[in-house]
Amino acid sequence: MKSVCVYCGSNSGSDPAFAAQARALGQRLAADGITLVYGGGNVGLMGIVADDVLAGGGEVIGVIPQQLVDWEVAHRGVTRLEVVDSMHTRKARMFELADGFVALPGGFGTLDEMFEMLTWRQLGLGKKPCAFLDVDGFWQPLMAMLDSMVRERFLHAEQRQDLWHGDDIDTLLQWMRSYVPAQADKWLDEKRRSQLKLTPEDV
Ligand code: AMP
Repeated sequence: MKSVCVYCGSNSGSDPAFAAQARALGQRLAADGITLVYGGGNVGLMGIVADDVLAGGGEVIGVIPQQLVDWEVAHRGVTRLEVVDSMHTRKARMFELADGFVALPGGFGTLDEMFEMLTWRQLGLGKKPCAFLDVDGFWQPLMAMLDSMVRERFLHAEQRQDLWHGDDIDTLLQWMRSYVPAQADKWLDEKRRSQLKLTPEDV
């Protein structure tokens, strides 16, 4: 695994433990020689992860839309800053550059970016590992929501299992390195399954 994309808050959050986890991840990526791909900002947890990778002698690629550069939130010290024309281009570029995706605590932007990767993956567009790195149970309510989606048959159980959730960075990186993507088809409704001629073994 050469590169990991980290999505995280452009704010630092209320609990200093969030920043501590961001720092620990940045230090570990640098120590393991894994390039950080991220949103290119110098704000919040984003800036913290990037600074710690750089402080550890690691490589950081920021991908940022021109609008955010104009708002002066671009990190000027990264190894390479790619300025793109839109948020959409940014997501596609981050997807190309990274071998896997990790979400640290964050807000709308973090969820939007991670869920787009999960959505593409369940449609067969890319098979890269996606993980939620937790801090003090921040992601627990989201995991409960995903379980509810499975129970209500909006999400395939195998797709639900296909993401990692935990708070230990060692375990996270081991999981990413040995990741084997789920094979399950997205569709749960009988009508769509029979159109595709899926057998029970495909479930
Ligand atoms: P949020 O979780 O809403 O703070 O959004 C953070 C995520 O959205 C990051 O992973 C970024 O890629 C993107 N993003 C949001 N705000 C900014 C910003 N001010 N500078 C750079 N990227 C941002």
